[in-house]
Amino acid sequence: MSNTVPAAVFTPDLLRRLDTSGPRYTSYPTADRFHEGFGEKQYREALAARAELARHNAAPPLAVYVHIPFCESVCYYCACNKIVTRHHERALPYLAMLEREIAMHAEALGPRQRVTQLHFGGGTPTFLSDAELSRVMGVVRGAFEIADDAECSIEVDPRTATPERLSHFWSLGLNRISFGVQDFDAEVQQAVHRIQPYEQVESLMTVARRLGYQSINVDLIYGLPKQRPDNFAHTIEQVIGLAPDRIALYGYAHLPERFKPQRRIVTAELPDGAARLAMLGHAIGAFGAAGYDYIGMDHFAKPDDPLAIAKRQGKLHRNFQGYTTQPECDMLGLGVSAIGRVGAVYAQNAKTIEGYENSLGAGRFATVRGLQLSADDLMRRSMIMDIMCRGRLDFAKVKAEFGVDMPTDFAAELARLEPLAGHGLVKVGTDAVEVTPVGWYVVRAVAMAFDRYIAAAAATRASFSKIV
Ligand code: SF4
Repeated sequence: MSNTVPAAVFTPDLLRRLDTSGPRYTSYPTADRFHEGFGEKQYREALAARAELARHNAAPPLAVYVHIPFCESVCYYCACNKIVTRHHERALPYLAMLEREIAMHAEALGPRQRVTQLHFGGGTPTFLSDAELSRVMGVVRGAFEIADDAECSIEVDPRTATPERLSHFWSLGLNRISFGVQDFDAEVQQAVHRIQPYEQVESLMTVARRLGYQSINVDLIYGLPKQRPDNFAHTIEQVIGLAPDRIALYGYAHLPERFKPQRRIVTAELPDGAARLAMLGHAIGAFGAAGYDYIGMDHFAKPDDPLAIAKRQGKLHRNFQGYTTQPECDMLGLGVSAIGRVGAVYAQNAKTIEGYENSLGAGRFATVRGLQLSADDLMRRSMIMDIMCRGRLDFAKVKAEFGVDMPTDFAAELARLEPLAGHGLVKVGTDAVEVTPVGWYVVRAVAMAFDRYIAAAAATRASFSKIV
């Protein structure tokens, strides 16, 4: 069964709901719940608990995320935690601390734990030279056993990549690749200070495919300055022509008071609400018509991509990087500002490079905040992930796992779904909550009903406030 939804279902009301804000649920509770009462001591305890499980071959699979924070120049839409510099030598002390952090984890967890997923994100991982990336991969391989079938991915900024570089990454064992494209229009690229001609991306994608990279992804953004429905439609056409295996389509949120680079965006050049909706609606329709399956949130994939197969089989999962085929696992977050998950804790590293390097320089993990999940958090995390990944919350499963009777114990949460049910986005039955095919596009609004930290009424109102 295809997950493609015909373009005709994209009524203006649904598009408005889709073009709204709300937690992305890459974790539950969400990162705004992390607090500074959780620090290095608690993180070490979580690592020790995992090490104990590993000694009995009972530890969950392990994923590793490596954050490279540097960028050569700033994109004006950026809301990431990054360091903009042309001084590549700044990477050297950072890499030294990253290596120390990897070694400290290997020591705390026991030697050569098996890693099934490795991801380089940023910032710009390709800010590192080939020699530097080789060095980091060497250290990771020395500390962990990378499984033969591990997904090893890297985010590539086309401006800092060449065919030779892609070949080098491949030789290091990286087998998944994601290109930051955003928009191909020259005027839009100029307005956001990110110039990367179509031909450059096209040649990199051709090489990536020839080398054997799987699940090639392209990131796009709608709502950028100088974007119009007609020029964005051309970008969509070009992207479909490139035939990536996966496409992520994000909505730009203009928050210049929070994100300094965004102050350089000319507000008058931003598309208005109607134009945003037209671009979003067209993109979704065009991806569907081109045969892409809708995965959830902002993601589309070819029907034969592992992500689409996992969605059809009800085996989709979600972690800090978004949707994944990897089963529930612990994830080590390495590098400045990185977030990890070990057992029932989330831990985040220092957000400044000074804080990060100082801690590791002193032989301490750089954890500055985090969260120990309560039994209620764990139960709701399971519910929210069932909704976000499988579109179904089965009451008998909840009862078996947590001893909870949904119709009575979660009556208030189920009542919160009524407005969404009224719009045909979710079905609330006596034995399950089921997200409808159209409801998948607003799946986080369904998940929000079970988020203890979002006041229920406010949550539903927030997701509806922009649609009426
Ligand atoms: S959008 Fe990415 S490449 Fe651009 S400044 Fe932000 S982190 Fe760097």
